[in-house]
Amino acid sequence: MLSAFLEDAAHFPGGHAAGIASPSSESEVADVLRSASAVLPIGAQSSLTGGATPMGEVLLGTSRLNRILEIGSDWARVQAGVTLADLDAALRAVGKYYPPAPTFTGAFVGGTVATNAAGAATFKYGTTRDWVRAMTVVLASGDARRIERGGVKASSLVPVPTYRMPAVPKNSAGYFAAAGMDLIDLFIGSEGTLGVITEVTLRVLPRRPALCHAFVTFADRSAALAFVAGLRRASHAVAVSAIEHMDARCLSILREDGVDRQLGVPIPDDSAIALLVTLELPAGTDAEQAFDEIGRAHDGSPPDTPLVRLCRMLDEAGVLERVEIAVPGDSARAEQLLAVREAVPASVNARVGRAKHAIDPLIAKTAADMVVPFDRVGDLMTMYDEEFARRRLDAAVWGHISDGNLHPNVLPRSYSDVESGKDAIMTFGRAVIAMGGSPLAEHGVGRNPVKQALLGELYGDRGVAEMRAVKETLDPDYKLAPGVLFPRR
Ligand SMILES: Cc1cc2nc3c(=O)[nH]c(=O)nc-3n(C[C@H](O)[C@H](O)[C@H](O)COP(=O)(O)OP(=O)(O)OC[C@H]3O[C@@H](n4cnc5c(N)ncnc54)[C@H](O)[C@@H]3O)c2cc1C
Repeated sequence: MLSAFLEDAAHFPGGHAAGIASPSSESEVADVLRSASAVLPIGAQSSLTGGATPMGEVLLGTSRLNRILEIGSDWARVQAGVTLADLDAALRAVGKYYPPAPTFTGAFVGGTVATNAAGAATFKYGTTRDWVRAMTVVLASGDARRIERGGVKASSLVPVPTYRMPAVPKNSAGYFAAAGMDLIDLFIGSEGTLGVITEVTLRVLPRRPALCHAFVTFADRSAALAFVAGLRRASHAVAVSAIEHMDARCLSILREDGVDRQLGVPIPDDSAIALLVTLELPAGTDAEQAFDEIGRAHDGSPPDTPLVRLCRMLDEAGVLERVEIAVPGDSARAEQLLAVREAVPASVNARVGRAKHAIDPLIAKTAADMVVPFDRVGDLMTMYDEEFARRRLDAAVWGHISDGNLHPNVLPRSYSDVESGKDAIMTFGRAVIAMGGSPLAEHGVGRNPVKQALLGELYGDRGVAEMRAVKETLDPDYKLAPGVLFPRR
C-alpha cells in the first residue's frame, strides 16, 4: 500500500515514508499534524518536481477529502481531494465551468492550489490563484484557519518578502510576495510547506463556452510566430483562449510513434512547428452553425464571427490547407486533436523511461518550465536550439506558446546527456531571468536541485532567506514538507 505512494510523476529517486495517513476531516488532518514530526501533504502526486515524493515523512493523503460541498451561481466550495475531472463533471451537470485547469485533470484541487497550477487557458484566464476565493488551511501547529480573499493581510502573520516577482503571466517560484498582499496568496503556490489545504472555494464561470479546436502545421517557424502574435492581438475578436505549440522534434516523434495515423491527424513531413488553437465560442454554438460559418468564410459576405475571422487569418498565413478543425459539439474530433498534444509528453517520457532501463538507471527526465514576455519567445526558441545543438543534445520543445511558456525536454542517450542537459537548463534559466521571465513558470520547485538552484538565481540568497523567514514563522521545526523549495536547515 505505502509503496504505491513513494514516487510522484517526476520519478524523483529515493522516496521513502514513515507511514501514510488518509484523514477524512479537518480535525483528523489536525491530529496527524499534532502527532507526527514530519508530514508531506499529497494530492494525486502528479507533481513534476519531486515535491510530492516523501523523504521519510508521514504522508498525508487527501484522497478521502473528496466531497463537492456546494455549488453557487459563480463559485464552488470543495474539499482538497476532489479531482479536477470530478469538479468538471459536477460543474458540467449545472452548465458551469472552471477554466484554469492544468493539462492533467486527475490532479486534486488542493494540489493545484498548492502549486498555483496553470494551464493552456492561462492566456485568457490567469492561473489558479486568480480563481481562489477562500480556503481552509491547517497549520503545522494543528490549528485550522479559514482565509477569505480580501479578509487578512499576509503581513499580519509573516514578514512579507521584499523580492519583486517577474512580470510574466505565470510564475511558480516559491512564495508569492507583493506589498500589501493578501494572506490567501501566501498559501497559494506554497507547495505544502506552510499548511495543509483542506477546503477551497473557487470562482467558476456561470456558463460553459462552446469550444472549437484548430490544429495547424507550419513549414516556417517565423511565420507561425507571426501568426501567434496576430492571434494574441486579435484574441478578443477571434475568441482565443489558448495556443499550444509543438516543435519539429515533437512532430517527428509523433510520426515515429504513428500517432498521426492512429488519430487521423496529418502532420506533413515539412512541418517545422504545429499549433493547437482553442476558441471559446458563445455557449450554445453547435456544429451546424460552425460548419455554415466555415463554408461561408470565402463567399462574398461571410458573417463576421470569431470562426470566420480565424479562417481569414489562416488563409492570410497560407496554411488553410494544413488545418484540422474540431467544431463545437464534435467531441470525438476534439479528443483526437487534444490527444495529439497530450501524446507529446507521453512519447517523450516513454523514451526517457526506455533509455533508463536499456542504457543507464541514472537517466532521468531532464526538462525545464520557463516563461518569457511574449516578444522574447523567438529569442527563447533560438537559444534552446543553439544551446542544444552546441551540446549535441537531442531535445523536444513544446508548451503554452500563448503565454510565452515553453518546456524544453532532453531525450537522453546517456547519463552524460542528463548532466549536460542540467547545465543547459541553468544556462537557459539565467538568460530567461535576464529577459524578464521566470525559469519556474508553472510546475513549482519541489525537491528538484536544479529548480532549487534556479530559485536562488531568480531571487538571490537574500530572497531565499526571506522565504525561509516566512517558513520559520509558521513552521519553525520544518514539520511540513521539509526539503521542498529549499533544503531544511
Ligand atoms: C501529464 C501531466 C501534465 C501536467 N500538466 C500541467 C499543466 O498544464 N500545468 C501545471 O501547472 N502543471 C501540470 N502538471 C503538474 C501537476 O499536475 C500539477 O503541479 C498539479 O497541480 C499537482 O496536483 P496534485 O494533486 O497531483 O498534487 P501533488 O503532486 O500530489 O502535490 C504537489 C505539491 O502540492 C502539495 N500539496 C498537495 N496537496 C496539498 C494540500 N491539500 N495542501 C497543501 N499542500 C498540498 C504537495 O506537498 C506537493 O508539494 C502536469 C503533470 C502531468 C503528470
